[in-house]
Amino acid sequence: KFPDRPAISFQLFSDPNARAVTLNWTELHERVTETANVFHSLGIGPKDVVAYLLPNSIETPIVLLAGATAGIVSPINPLLDADQIGGILRDSGAKVLVTLKSFPKSDVAQKAAAAVALAPNVQTVLEIDLRHYLTGVKRLLVPLLRPKVPTRHHANIVDFEAAASAQRHNRLLFEEGTEDRVAAHFHTGGTTGLPKVAQHKFSGMIYNGWLGAELLFTETDVLICPLPLFHVFAAYPILMSCLSSGAHMVLPTPAGYRGDGVFDNFWKLIERWQVTFLITVPTAISALLQRPVNADVSSLRTAISGSAPLPIELYNRFKAATGVEIAEGYGLTEATCLVSCNPVDGLKKVGSVGLPLPYTEVRILRPDGPGRFVECPQGEVGEICISNPGVFEGSTYTEIDKNRDLFADGRFLRTGDLGRVDEDGYLWITGRAKDLIIRGGHNIDPAEIEEALLAHPGVAFAGAIGQPDAFAGELPCAYVELVKGATATVEELTEFARGHIHERAAIPKYIEILPELPKTAVGKIFKPDLRKMAIKRVYS
Ligand code: ATP
Repeated sequence: KFPDRPAISFQLFSDPNARAVTLNWTELHERVTETANVFHSLGIGPKDVVAYLLPNSIETPIVLLAGATAGIVSPINPLLDADQIGGILRDSGAKVLVTLKSFPKSDVAQKAAAAVALAPNVQTVLEIDLRHYLTGVKRLLVPLLRPKVPTRHHANIVDFEAAASAQRHNRLLFEEGTEDRVAAHFHTGGTTGLPKVAQHKFSGMIYNGWLGAELLFTETDVLICPLPLFHVFAAYPILMSCLSSGAHMVLPTPAGYRGDGVFDNFWKLIERWQVTFLITVPTAISALLQRPVNADVSSLRTAISGSAPLPIELYNRFKAATGVEIAEGYGLTEATCLVSCNPVDGLKKVGSVGLPLPYTEVRILRPDGPGRFVECPQGEVGEICISNPGVFEGSTYTEIDKNRDLFADGRFLRTGDLGRVDEDGYLWITGRAKDLIIRGGHNIDPAEIEEALLAHPGVAFAGAIGQPDAFAGELPCAYVELVKGATATVEELTEFARGHIHERAAIPKYIEILPELPKTAVGKIFKPDLRKMAIKRVYS
């Protein structure tokens, strides 16, 4: 519909004035087509897997879309270690891996080489040379066809650019599969342990894109994508929704990498690109709000937060800084992505995750004997179970995934999240079954403790867990990362928590300040590491 309008721009985080690379919709279509042809020429058919191990760059969305067109795309988080990446490559049976050519300050190429050595099924490694973009050299000036470099591994190493330029036919050289076929393997965020895999069909991908275009934005919107494209949150509500609506996506790099500085220029990027719509996660909002608003951000009209609970404090501070009210939403990888969202232009209930999206059914269920469930009365807390066109059918290729007890009554995906639906149909998440702190039979939601600590002006991030206790089973304990330059002490935070947590049992028994909290690639607090720390302390 909009052949000449900008589709995707690629921009460095570190320099808001640096030259950007922009593809319009025609160019994006051509690039996806030629890349899908490359995959096809390398033997990828509808049942074959193309994996990619990439930080966000302009090639990443192209590889994602082309991989799903030619076969099954499997995005892998570059923050995992080489053994984990090798395991994913092997288990998925990937034939092709797309990754980076070695690049200063990046260990992605080294990890890829070590991982490929563990996965004999990988026949070809396509390498992208990021230097072309970072030095501002235009893509077309890049030297064409380079010889294949023999490697010490079994796989052929092929230059991505060269392979693509040899496939510039502008039409697909093969039949696209049906909507009903599996087109992607996405991994969960790994918040509670090793990432699990969800197999997504085209239909689920299209449904998620349609939701964005139907409910969120139009071709006049500009989105910025501060999240990594190997996770569903960036791939669907951002990328697929831009594709469905014609909105312009700005993709800053690097993203998904821990480390300071990522948000230093973010307000300026919003001004430079006249961003209208921000979709992100609570930890990113917190990091952003630690920087003064040093740009004109009046173009911003809406923001959505998801993937973890959004503390009311952050909602209020973001509104004060930008004038924008964040709409909180909820989703999970096993549902392709979106489940519910507060209306962008309607009543937002702060603290809730909004209304179920079109064609989504939410049931609040509790077990009623082995394999049986009953629906909880309205307002009562139970497990959130869902059905929608994005819900996957289960995964089969890893041991963890084979053995998961996934569906209630054969139809409703068990999310493992606890929640209730209020009288207006809004969904409220009250905890994660696995994360609940159980103190002497009393259930405590860690979010309550985290939210109370985050209300302290010196606290940037907080993670609460249960530490083992011989008497109570578990006691609440909290780890905190302070705002840069803040000087709050443990005593002060403990006092503050006492004043802000109503339920006595939930007041943390132990608080520790860490220089940095462990976080996953999508910015969620990585609780398994906090639990390990607590266990070590309690038993040492
Ligand atoms: P893993 O399943 O590997 O432990 P993960 O749960 O982070 O990782 P994702 O699919 O990335 O896997 O995230 C989905 C989960 O994120 C949901 O099941 C829910 O627990 C949580 N979540 C998403 N949005 C929200 C929200 N708005 N509020 C609270 N929790 C949320």
